[in-house]
Amino acid sequence: MASAPRITVIGTGYLGATHAACMAELGYEVIGVDVDPDKVSDLQAGRVPFYEPGLEELIAPHIASGRLRFTTSAEEAAAFGDVHFICVGTPQRKGEFAADTSYLDQAVDALAPHLVRPCLVVGKSTVPVGTAARLAERLSARAPVGEAAELAWNPEFLREGHAINDTLRPDRLVVGVRSAAAEARLREVYAPLLDAGVPFLTTDFATSELVKVSANAFLSTKISFINAMAEVCEAAGADVTQLSEALSYDPRIGGLFLNAGLGFGGGCLPKDIRAFMARAGELGVDQALTFLREVDAINMRRRFKMVDLAREACGGGFLGRRVAVFGAAFKPESDDIRDSPALNVAAQVQLQGGEVTVYDPKATDNARKMYPGLAYADTAFDAARGAHVVLHLTEWREFRAIDPEELGEIVAARHIIDGRNALDAPRWRAAGWTFRALGRP
Ligand code: NAD
Repeated sequence: MASAPRITVIGTGYLGATHAACMAELGYEVIGVDVDPDKVSDLQAGRVPFYEPGLEELIAPHIASGRLRFTTSAEEAAAFGDVHFICVGTPQRKGEFAADTSYLDQAVDALAPHLVRPCLVVGKSTVPVGTAARLAERLSARAPVGEAAELAWNPEFLREGHAINDTLRPDRLVVGVRSAAAEARLREVYAPLLDAGVPFLTTDFATSELVKVSANAFLSTKISFINAMAEVCEAAGADVTQLSEALSYDPRIGGLFLNAGLGFGGGCLPKDIRAFMARAGELGVDQALTFLREVDAINMRRRFKMVDLAREACGGGFLGRRVAVFGAAFKPESDDIRDSPALNVAAQVQLQGGEVTVYDPKATDNARKMYPGLAYADTAFDAARGAHVVLHLTEWREFRAIDPEELGEIVAARHIIDGRNALDAPRWRAAGWTFRALGRP
């Protein structure tokens, strides 16, 4: 592949580290760039500083062969790369709904002054519509080659926990471009995926940015829809799991993202729908997205409901009560605790006087950093010892494998609340547990 484009990936978090590894896997020479020197030295040593199934195994051989390396130097990246993917974070601004896009500005500002030959800079971060157009100007104004440093937008749809498969076998590739040359370059980079039949959609900057945020708006709406049904089921004595199963046979509805429970969290859906609302406001079409406020509110109400159920199980108050929390990650197969519903519930219970012990198979270290006041255990059984109630808040497979009889031996009271509708209720009840769940009688 002598003439193959050389790739850089700027920002090597959950998205960027995966993208860099997968680009190397496709056969490209790749440099990953991050401003965090610890992250860079971990990755360069073949250690992935977060949990993503299969990623460490994927990275190691490419580091060893030299096809993939990591640096903190934007200058080195500029000299090396023909195509620069930008994967930096776009978190929610403190105290606001809007996204903080300053990391993108910083990434462009660090790279652009060193761009002395034509190249393509490809944004992958999730951004408010209009960001790409703004960054394109910023890039060409600062790059010595001017407009020969071209921008494109290529939003990313990967899911943590499935990141490698989603990158190498995506449902679709969407690219926002301003020239045929940019489109051709991206078709070249993604040729192995296109050959495998992945749909490739070419559009303008604004549409490409909106595809990503509208996808996340739709997915959050679907989750909050079924959680709204769960609220009604709770009031009416109905069972939301049976309701959603029955709905799922309708192909117009479909069963994915239709599991009622504690709702969504993580580093994407909550901040993306809020940033989308903020941007719609700036564009003067805030009414178009007011329903997302309700989507957000339904989602947050599930957390309060979970705390209410836990309090009831504790006899009406948490003082002097031990509460075991199973799960800290925002979802299974990840150690990501950003806006984690499980930790949010754990923190609320503790604030109300409960003695909370959290166990998670992968996310304990991250949780400890963000919530140092909570207690943590090394196993689910250690967390549950002496507990008056067990809260199942992240649906790791490990929790489904627990024997209710065995766990029952070590708790103070056999009360469990399934916040994810993932446990086998009859089995727990047969072992003498009081089993409660969101949206079910
Ligand atoms: P992250 O916080 O894990 O990673 C961001 C990385 O960027 C960090 O390592 C940070 O040090 C680095 N960084 C910040 N400023 C930089 C700069 N100027 N130069 C170089 N590196 C810099 O975030 P993430 O989860 O990987 O998300 C990144 C973007 O991708 C966000 O816009 C997110 O919405 C989007 N996205 C994430 C996912 C996901 O599942 N995590 C999926 C699709 C899209």
